[in-house]
Amino acid sequence: MKQFRLLNLKLQTKTTLYFLIGLLGVTLSCLYITRYFFLVSLDNLENAESTRASKQAYNLIINMVEELEERSYDWAYWDETHALLLGGSVQEYRERNLFEGSLDSLSLDMMIFTTLRGDVIDSVARYQNSDHNFSSIVMSEPAIYHHVQAMNKVMDSFRESYSGLLALDEQLWSVSITPVRNSDGTAASSGWLVWGQNLSSRFPGNFESILIAQSDIFHIGQSHQLSLIPEVEKSRHYMSQTIDLVGMSGTPVAHLKTTLERVHFLKGNVLFSYLFMAVAFVAIIITAITYILFRRRVAVRFSDLEKDIDELFSSYQLEGLNQPNKDELDRLTKLVQALASDSSATKEQLQDTQQKFAALYESQTIAMILVLGREIVEINRTALELLDYDIGEVVHQPLDLICPDDDKPECQIDTMYRMFQQGQTQFESQMITKSGELIDCHIEVKSIKYQGRDAVMLSVRDVREHKKQTKLIEDLVERDHLSGLWNRKAIMEKARNFVQTQPNQFSLLYITIPNLMQVSEVYGHQIFDQSLESIARLFGEELSAFPVGRISSHEFLVLIERIEEFDIAELGAIRFKEALSRKRQIQTLMVDLRCQVVLIEPEITHHSLDKLIHSSIHALETSRIPASPSNLLRIGSEEFDVAQAAAAIKRDLECAIESREIHAHYQPIVDSKTAEIVGFEALARWQHPQFGFVSPGVFIPLAERDHQIIKLGESILEQACEFMTRVDKIRRSQGRTSLTIHVNLSAAHFYYPGLPDYLVHIIQRYNVLPGQLVIEVTESMLMGIEEEVIARMEMIKSLGVLFALDDFGTGYSSFSTLCCFPLDIVKLDKSYIDQLEENDRAKSLVRNIANMAQELGLTTVAEGVETASQARKLKNWNIEEIQGFYFYKPMAENELLKLISGSHG
Ligand code: C2E
Ligand code: CA
Ligand code: CA
Repeated sequence: MKQFRLLNLKLQTKTTLYFLIGLLGVTLSCLYITRYFFLVSLDNLENAESTRASKQAYNLIINMVEELEERSYDWAYWDETHALLLGGSVQEYRERNLFEGSLDSLSLDMMIFTTLRGDVIDSVARYQNSDHNFSSIVMSEPAIYHHVQAMNKVMDSFRESYSGLLALDEQLWSVSITPVRNSDGTAASSGWLVWGQNLSSRFPGNFESILIAQSDIFHIGQSHQLSLIPEVEKSRHYMSQTIDLVGMSGTPVAHLKTTLERVHFLKGNVLFSYLFMAVAFVAIIITAITYILFRRRVAVRFSDLEKDIDELFSSYQLEGLNQPNKDELDRLTKLVQALASDSSATKEQLQDTQQKFAALYESQTIAMILVLGREIVEINRTALELLDYDIGEVVHQPLDLICPDDDKPECQIDTMYRMFQQGQTQFESQMITKSGELIDCHIEVKSIKYQGRDAVMLSVRDVREHKKQTKLIEDLVERDHLSGLWNRKAIMEKARNFVQTQPNQFSLLYITIPNLMQVSEVYGHQIFDQSLESIARLFGEELSAFPVGRISSHEFLVLIERIEEFDIAELGAIRFKEALSRKRQIQTLMVDLRCQVVLIEPEITHHSLDKLIHSSIHALETSRIPASPSNLLRIGSEEFDVAQAAAAIKRDLECAIESREIHAHYQPIVDSKTAEIVGFEALARWQHPQFGFVSPGVFIPLAERDHQIIKLGESILEQACEFMTRVDKIRRSQGRTSLTIHVNLSAAHFYYPGLPDYLVHIIQRYNVLPGQLVIEVTESMLMGIEEEVIARMEMIKSLGVLFALDDFGTGYSSFSTLCCFPLDIVKLDKSYIDQLEENDRAKSLVRNIANMAQELGLTTVAEGVETASQARKLKNWNIEEIQGFYFYKPMAENELLKLISGSHG
């Protein structure tokens, strides 16, 4: 419910006002209570006074009645009266005694003389009506009448007087009736003397001054019932009591009303008004002073309190209460509730935390050490067990006791503290037990308050087991399970890491054992596995200081982590190579596990690992230095660049073939007798945009390794056939016979199943004549199963293609090759021709080959003829055809076409 608020007063002002309203309330209510009791007391007092006044007036009336009766004896016991009633002269008596003045002197209003029977003899009265009538009325009043009747029935001596009040003609009268006797009182009564006083007219009269209050008599009607309790009437100024006056006959005859002025009450009231005003005035002054003092000295603290509350509110952000116009006490109550629930929640949380902490502290696995400054102040059981100390031996000891010394200038603890200040809280460290054993542990540092001071709690976990496990897992994951060496992933990662973090500060050994590839094929897995174990053992013996990994079935990488160890590694590698240069006994076999080692110089270890390995392989493949056991191949920047160029060439090869950037040049072959061109050999040429002229000796082996050789072969073959259609055209126009075209095929291409179909396609497309196309094969190409090779050759030959045996005289050349395979031409290698001048053996060899070839029906071609002398000799020895720079160098198509056209005639 929304509370009505007149003003948004500040707590300071409000508190002051509350206080003052309270103060005034107390003062005024005290004043009012006092006034009430004071006035009630005054009222009671006045009541008593009024009662007294009423009684006084009443008693006065009673006294008047009694006095009247008493005084009446003076006249009743007077002889003259007695005489009168005994029959004396009324005239005389009247003259002498009974006149107006007598009533005045006796202070009476009526005097009646009657007989014993009550008959009026004479009377005198002060009354408007006639006397006579009045006396009769009086005597006929029942009370008088009955008294007379009653007295007449008793003995004379018992006749007595009687007095009381009577209401006569609406006037109250005090009346007495007294028997009349002689002055001695001895004679019998002669009649009755009735005296009366009109009280209505004369009360209080002379007594007025005696009475303490004003008293009045009021007539009442006949029917009025007697009331004994005085009737009280009060007004602000007066208080009156009315009591009934009982007449002679016992019934009320009149009211006596006593009216008292309320002097005290009025005075009291006035007094209190003054008092009230005085107190109010004083109270206002005190209030004002209090207001100022209280507000300044006391309530100002509420103002502070209010500010504090506001701050608390803004910090607690209590829902709906963070409004400055809300009642502070409401807000404070809510705040206290919120704080109370907060604090109880906090208490619960605290208990939870304590329990958790206790559980942690009692943990069986986590050792906890509380350190203040550098002093151990508390340590749990687990920590004691871990370090093998009793509590007394550790507590209050420096932390250094359980931390091992470090040979570095800054000790381990200082490092830890410094790192902790920089925000690191977890440390892999070591602790030292009582017996001096070092324990690998994981330490977590937390700063806490201990007895009001900054301390740190070290949670220490023994990680020895964990480390063992990790190492085991690491071994399982990172080790080659056959050799126990690092596996490819692990060693490569390590090496890559070195490339990144310490370029040119480390080196590598690349070791390859090519025969391993065949060992498993030739001897089976078991021998392979044992060979590998043997090699691993040898690594352990010669290169134990270095991480060694197997990166493929037959390749290994040795990481030389420190440049200073380069020489040691080199010596180790030489010993290793020497050891493997001898056949090794595996079971009952002697296995050749010769290896090649490449020492990668630190100057290139900033290059990527893949490039380094690739360069090593390339270097081995292209190396011209003869492999000896003590000879390691070293690769530095130069070799690396070459290898990289080779890699680049390899990369560009495919594109170059497709775009015919690799194209054919043609070297004419001439008749030895006439020196006329009889044919051409197509030779691949590549003008690389980056590296310039690239020798086929470089890119052909690359194309072979990269399976590009088929495409290259087809490209050259097609270009050659294209060329020949043009040549043929010219030759036909010259009326000459067609020439032959020699195309070199690689072994891979020769064994390619699609070759015959392709040749058919080419022959048809370019109209190649039978015997016009010559395929040059090398001896190594014919090394497969003889029948299969022959069948293949026969099949190709059936298409009208001839075969030339290239480079005859190199490699495993044998004359049997010439006999067994369906060859048409034999090409003598340049190495024989070169030796013709000085080597007689070469001369006879060439001659014999020429003779034998002739016998076998083979055409002989001499290659690499550079001099006239060579040409002459070859001609004389019946070598039919010659190819060489002496006649022609390989030439571009256009050049040759011009040449052929020009040689017409
Ligand atoms: P090859 O088949 O023995 O080719 C003859 C090589 O001897 C050519 O070298 C040629 O230029 C060179 N030559 C010819 N006459 C002389 C001479 O008087 N003096 C000297 N010093 N050299 C002479 P080239 O063109 O460098 O080719 C080298 C080898 O590359 C070729 O030897 C051949 O085995 C291979 N080759 C060339 N083109 C192709 C091709 O299109 N396919 C295949 N599979 N191999 C090719
Ligand atoms: Ca050739
Ligand atoms: Ca050749």
